[in-house]
Amino acid sequence: MTQEGKLVVITGPSGVGKGTIVKALLSKYSQIFVSISATTRVPRQGEVDKKDYYFLSRDEFEQMINDHQLLEWAEYAGNYYGTPRQPVLEQINQGKIIILEIEVLGARLIKDSFPLATSIFILPPSLDILEQRLRGRATDAEEVIIKRLAKAREELAVSDEFDYQVINDNLESSIELVESIIFPAVS
Ligand code: ADP
Ligand code: 5GP
Repeated sequence: MTQEGKLVVITGPSGVGKGTIVKALLSKYSQIFVSISATTRVPRQGEVDKKDYYFLSRDEFEQMINDHQLLEWAEYAGNYYGTPRQPVLEQINQGKIIILEIEVLGARLIKDSFPLATSIFILPPSLDILEQRLRGRATDAEEVIIKRLAKAREELAVSDEFDYQVINDNLESSIELVESIIFPAVS
């Protein structure tokens, strides 16, 4: 029997723990894949081109937009981010579960174009804790953290547009909850 592919969108503010949750799922389930996005953001220390992101110039990114190579894209805190179309469509056709870990505007576009996609919004227990996590991660400059916190307020206001809301307080519980959403029959 061929397994049916599935598109799962995980969204929510920067620093809430999306990447941490997705990483845990990837290490546990061989049938889950994550889409590698394109971005114009500069790589953080330790990030690898074509593994963490396709790191592109603005010209290269705009070329991808013009060539319709992106399933969705958005500008976030001064940079472009987008999902390459072909790998996602291929993986769904191959019966895989593919996760898009993307910000809210892109997640909305995916919901519109893929009504069967499952969308999960990850919330922080509070804005103070979100700020602590962004600072604790120590990947972003102060002005970047301030931009991301301002964005977070806007994003949290629309969390109920998505199918599921998960408050990422205890990490293990959040991972279990996301698993039960992705695999409803086995929970
Ligand atoms: P995002 O991908 O949403 O930007 P990250 O996964 O990078 O967020 O997480 C931001 C920081 O918060 C990281 O340092 C991570 O280790 C930490 N973190 C994630 N989930 C939790 C949690 N449930 N409790 C405490 N810290 C967490
Ligand atoms: P970061 O710079 O922290 O890696 O990502 C910033 C924000 O962009 C995060 O909320 C992340 O989920 C989002 N993001 C990453 N890739 C994409 C993408 O392909 N499309 C969209 N719309 N957002 C993305």
